[in-house]
Amino acid sequence: MLDTAPCGFLSTTDSGIILVANITLREMIGHEPTSLQGRHIEALLPMIGRLLYHTHLVPLLVMQGKVEEAVLSLQLQRGGTLPVLVNAVRHERREKIVHDWVFMPMHLRTQYEDQILRAKKAADEATRLQIQANAALVEARAALELKQAELVEANARLEALATLDSLTGLKNRRAFQEQLDFQMALAIRISSPLSVLILDVDHFKHINDTFGHPTGDLYLQMLARILQQNSRDVDIVARYGGEEFAIILLSANQIDAIGVAEKFRRKVEAESWPNTAITISVGASTLSQEMHTSASLIDSADQALYMSKKRGRNRVTHARDVKHDGL
Ligand code: GH3
Ligand code: MG
Ligand code: MG
Repeated sequence: MLDTAPCGFLSTTDSGIILVANITLREMIGHEPTSLQGRHIEALLPMIGRLLYHTHLVPLLVMQGKVEEAVLSLQLQRGGTLPVLVNAVRHERREKIVHDWVFMPMHLRTQYEDQILRAKKAADEATRLQIQANAALVEARAALELKQAELVEANARLEALATLDSLTGLKNRRAFQEQLDFQMALAIRISSPLSVLILDVDHFKHINDTFGHPTGDLYLQMLARILQQNSRDVDIVARYGGEEFAIILLSANQIDAIGVAEKFRRKVEAESWPNTAITISVGASTLSQEMHTSASLIDSADQALYMSKKRGRNRVTHARDVKHDGL
């Protein structure tokens, strides 16, 4: 019965000499039917198995009387080894101590282990791919954020282009008008004075005609710089048209406005211009109960400018004085 049991069976003396080995075991390792009896169990074990036998299995048998589910390799006759699960007991048979061994091949277990290993590898690979995908996602997000920042910057540039004058870098007429409406509404709400200046170059046509249009452009750029440098940060300086400039003076009453306009006029007069000196005429207008729309403020500043021209140019006129002059 033991010969055909579905497990390898071996009985040895307590010193390891094989007394009997069943057919299943002999087939398992590919041994001749008769050759095992009388040999030492070491003959069935590879080097590492022998070590395990002496240092682990025998001591266990001696001390505990049994070995349960130890893993061991059997040396195969054709070369190679066969992993087996070992159970053994130490007991007395016919007044002699014997060790009975049972060996179960571990094909299935190693197959399972292989499968687990493969599954683990697949999981590792999936994790690696996921990490890679996450990195790609982070990169794509960063690229998107960069594009958005570029878009914001491009919009800011477009906005600047739409509100700035390309020749002088000052605000253009449209931006001036927007600012005037906004600042006037604010000034009225907080009862703060506000004035507007309109400046026009005297006989500018002469500069263009005599020195050429590029020189005329240079004069306009220089003039813009003078106006910008001599105004406060809060004031809004704009190129209103061809050789006309407009300035919003915040918190400035009639007297302040005339003072600032005079300062500009003197600065332009005192500048050392490249070819020939130029002067400016200025019209000023101040927010009041009668003059509280941007159109009326600009219109009256324009009339004051016209009056400055009429009076001989290179001078400042305030809108209040235009009325007194009977215009
Ligand atoms: P007034 O004292 O009466 O103001 O005389 P003016 O010659 O300045 O007046 P007018 O309005 O007849 O001429 C303005 C000139 O400004 C005409 C135009 O060619 C010139 N101009 C307008 N815009 C530009 C510009 O961008 N560059 C140059 N170089 N000239 C300009
Ligand atoms: Mg003009
Ligand atoms: Mg002019």
